[in-house]
Amino acid sequence: MTPVRGSVGGGRDDVTVISAQEGRNEGRLAELTANLAAVRARIETACGAAGRPADAVELIAVTKTFPASDVALLNQLGLVDFGENKDQEAAPKAAECAAAGLRLRWHFVGQLQVNKAGSVASYADVVHSVDRGRLAAVLGRRAAAAGRSVRCLVQVSLDGAPGRGGADPDEVLGLAAAIAAEPSLVLGGVMAIAPLGVPARPAYARLRKIAESVRSDYPSATAISAGMSDDLGEAIAEGATHVRIGTALLGGRRAFVR
Ligand SMILES: *Cc1c(COP(=O)(O)O)cnc(C)c1O
Repeated sequence: MTPVRGSVGGGRDDVTVISAQEGRNEGRLAELTANLAAVRARIETACGAAGRPADAVELIAVTKTFPASDVALLNQLGLVDFGENKDQEAAPKAAECAAAGLRLRWHFVGQLQVNKAGSVASYADVVHSVDRGRLAAVLGRRAAAAGRSVRCLVQVSLDGAPGRGGADPDEVLGLAAAIAAEPSLVLGGVMAIAPLGVPARPAYARLRKIAESVRSDYPSATAISAGMSDDLGEAIAEGATHVRIGTALLGGRRAFVR
């Protein structure tokens, strides 16, 4: 169960926020239902083409910029895995959902500063973006202090471009070891974002090789988190086990809309 963070006001208010919107949410529910069906069909098609079973790929709904009411509707439609990329947005949203009684798994997928690691460790079940040893150490310490176990993926940079997060491929095994050494962290596998402006599939093929080398040292590190709205097919063709889908499920994001 996702714990409620103490800093986010009364839980009753949060419940009211979600339920007050229910009347207005019928149109939104229909929209999300259709989007979810379309995304599931794309996943199924890609799995079929790759000769993989349709349930080989887990769908994570990336709800950044969208309200907790959308999380509640998607949960009503059967989704339990939700992704966010900024702690200042994710922490209150996770608390609001927990206060409303939703049982969810939160995936932190964005670049993570060490000073936010304690907050993230208090609600995230999976952190996809561990890209340096210091972050693994602080997450490990803060997860232990919170009495939680957090699954961590090593984020790999596939383009060497600075600014988008991710470790260089030759640092990945060292980071995997740093995560595995933390008693309150579980090494889950690897994550990457496709480089901009080049075909995604060859990049995801490189990620797959890196994932295989991690898995040969750590057999339970099976996750390959890859694939977003535009390239989930390419990612699934190269072995993705988790796709992170925002736009195709929730619609376009406007800046700073909450
Ligand atoms: C926003 C985001 C996604 C989802 O992207 P879409 O293209 O909207 O599907 C996936 N992964 C990360 C790390 C993100 O920040």
